[in-house]
Amino acid sequence: MRKNIVAGNWKMNMDLEKGLLIFNEIQQLIKEEVKGNQEVIICPPYIHLSSLSQLVDSGTNLSIGAQNCHQADSGAFTGEVSASIIASTGASYVIIGHSERRLYFSESNSLLAQKLDSVLENGMAPIFCIGETLEQRNNETYFEVIKEQITEASFHLQATDYSKLILAYEPVWAIGTGLTASPEQAQEIHSFIRNLLADKYDQDLANNMTILYGGSCNPKNASELFAKSDIDGGLIGGASLKARDFVDIIKALN
Ligand code: PEP
Repeated sequence: MRKNIVAGNWKMNMDLEKGLLIFNEIQQLIKEEVKGNQEVIICPPYIHLSSLSQLVDSGTNLSIGAQNCHQADSGAFTGEVSASIIASTGASYVIIGHSERRLYFSESNSLLAQKLDSVLENGMAPIFCIGETLEQRNNETYFEVIKEQITEASFHLQATDYSKLILAYEPVWAIGTGLTASPEQAQEIHSFIRNLLADKYDQDLANNMTILYGGSCNPKNASELFAKSDIDGGLIGGASLKARDFVDIIKALN
């Protein structure tokens, strides 16, 4: 059965004190809200992973994720963090291919393929991000761009591995800009992605895949987006930094 998920990407925000505070607030506020096949994921900076993992109450549908990882398992890569180190903190998810990584750190589809492998080999689930730029939206190449991102980075995976992935459609023009994709625009792409998966793997895998929307999602627009049949929740940046806003987005899953 398809999971409904709201994941918060704190990016390079929150010192440890603030992070612990907001995490505890969120955990309290969602106690009665998150049920069944719903899950909340918080992705703090690397150095908070262990502290937050230890605070997760057993029996809650709350998990911790990292925002990136290095593709190698260990070695002389000063300043980098591998998937195996992330797994050892108790985290269970890793965001891979966020547009800020693609843009500022030149991460290519072939590098992302290696990162997806590493996350899966270490028993965690990747939250794999895809999405087009404004230029690609305007020149109407966005279907090809998304197809290429998915195909080149992830279609080497076997179905059993693929079924562990979470996909996040994040139009680059909507991230941090206040310009949300309309529910119809997002639904069009989510349905396109699901069809790609059905063609490559099978209809069951496609039906069970969780596909999140990300890009200026907030408490006002979340319900309309999540109501679309192929939108299974959100990857939230700015609005995940305020406990109340984040929890209001989580409530929109219901
Ligand atoms: C993101 O960075 O993944 C994101 C969706 O950011 P925002 O919600 O701030 O647009």
